[in-house]
Amino acid sequence: MILLPPEVVTVCYIVAAVLFILALKGLGNPRTARRANLLGAGGAAIAVLAYMLSVELRNPVWIIGAIVVGAVIAVATARRVQMTQMPQLVAAFNGVGGGAAALVALVEVGHSESPWSLVVVAVTVLIGGVSLTGSFVTFGKLQGLVTTRAVTFPGLRALMIALVLAAVGAGAALVITGDAVYAFVLVALGLLLGVFLVLPIGGADVPIVISLLNAFTGLAVAASGLVLANVLLLIAGTLVGASGTILTMAMAKAMGRTVTGIVFGAFRATVAGASGGGASDRPVRTMDADDVAILLDYAQRVVIVPGYGLAVAGAHHAAAELAEVLRERGVDVVFGIHPVAGRMPGHMNVLLAEANVPYDALVEMDDVNPRFKTTDLVLVVGANDVVNPAAKTSPGSPIYGMPILTVADAQQVVFLKRSLNPGFAGIDNELFFDPKVSIVLGDAKHTLTKLLSAVKTTA
Ligand code: NDP
Repeated sequence: MILLPPEVVTVCYIVAAVLFILALKGLGNPRTARRANLLGAGGAAIAVLAYMLSVELRNPVWIIGAIVVGAVIAVATARRVQMTQMPQLVAAFNGVGGGAAALVALVEVGHSESPWSLVVVAVTVLIGGVSLTGSFVTFGKLQGLVTTRAVTFPGLRALMIALVLAAVGAGAALVITGDAVYAFVLVALGLLLGVFLVLPIGGADVPIVISLLNAFTGLAVAASGLVLANVLLLIAGTLVGASGTILTMAMAKAMGRTVTGIVFGAFRATVAGASGGGASDRPVRTMDADDVAILLDYAQRVVIVPGYGLAVAGAHHAAAELAEVLRERGVDVVFGIHPVAGRMPGHMNVLLAEANVPYDALVEMDDVNPRFKTTDLVLVVGANDVVNPAAKTSPGSPIYGMPILTVADAQQVVFLKRSLNPGFAGIDNELFFDPKVSIVLGDAKHTLTKLLSAVKTTA
């Protein structure tokens, strides 16, 4: 078989790297994100093909077979998964990426002679292992298979310190002896570290952890690029690592947290303030859609606060239509967007863009908070943690310190949700019992559809 000359392969790698960068840029905006995804996938396809056509493949049947099996699983999963399950899917794929980098490095132990390459192998297997199990625990939290609360136990801190020291020891032994056994020990330690790093991180901090693990996977892939002397892996891994790190810092800042505070503060995490049953005997004010339509009739300034429940219910089109109908009547309506509303960064922006809500109607937290004081009515649609005052008032609460949308400043607040159950962080919301707050119980799409027809008939 004729192999591609190295110059052609280099050109292909440069093209792929440029496509990756364009993809990252395009992913910053919902309008261009779809095309950006295709550009990234195209870059990856060019890179893989260029590599496969440039070397004598020793096991072509196995390699092509693995690609086909992987592609079939990925396409089938991606097609079946609901939009609301996307964060879990991303967490799982991220973990698999870290695991793959660790496996590649394991295979390379026997071929690495210089201490430097063994250092890189040690780092790759460790970070890859952390990323694999950390991402799967996160998957479990998002899927509801693992509690979303911070899980701690006596001795956790000592266990983590012991694991880190053991990893340093095993890494040193690997570099000195070159014995593959230490690489396997490092993987095992990385897998354990991943579990115990993520388990103590509770509710509202999970988005930051997802992003941090993503950055870890990027670093592991970049390191495996060094192991294999593959420039493109190095570039791709660095892009993921760098963008993941920037996103992690930005999210931590938006949440009033520090990354070290989240990772190391986990040892001190408590579940104070958590309840989760939603079973309070205190009375709440309930309404139905017709009552809300009457309130809307008198409202001049309205803010709709969307949350995860809006996505679950698929109520974004109904919310967008309601805003449009009110706007046509001269009501000042905007959507108040919290940075971690939903289950992935930008979740609400993507949903509402899909429902053709104009960008200027989406107002970020810092800009919408001052508006609440002059707002007549806030409709909180399937959101909970992002408006929970415990973040300001309960120092023991897992969400304490997180900035929230201060909806209680408005004249009236109406929640659209199915029960008094808590949100992702698993903590009760005192706001439900505030005299200016009412709740319309039921699926958000169902309620909004009824509300929409009631609003249209009162027009
Ligand atoms: P929450 O998870 O706090 O609350 C969502 C609410 O939606 C629930 O209380 C639920 O109440 C309600 N709900 C669910 N289904 C429906 C439905 N069909 N109709 C109406 N309501 C429904 O969501 P928020 O968006 O307020 O907050 C996001 C949380 O997720 C934060 O804690 C954040 O840290 C975390 N997170 C965010 C990530 C991100 O990147 N954005 C990633 C991972 C976690 P009920 O059951 O009573 O209906």
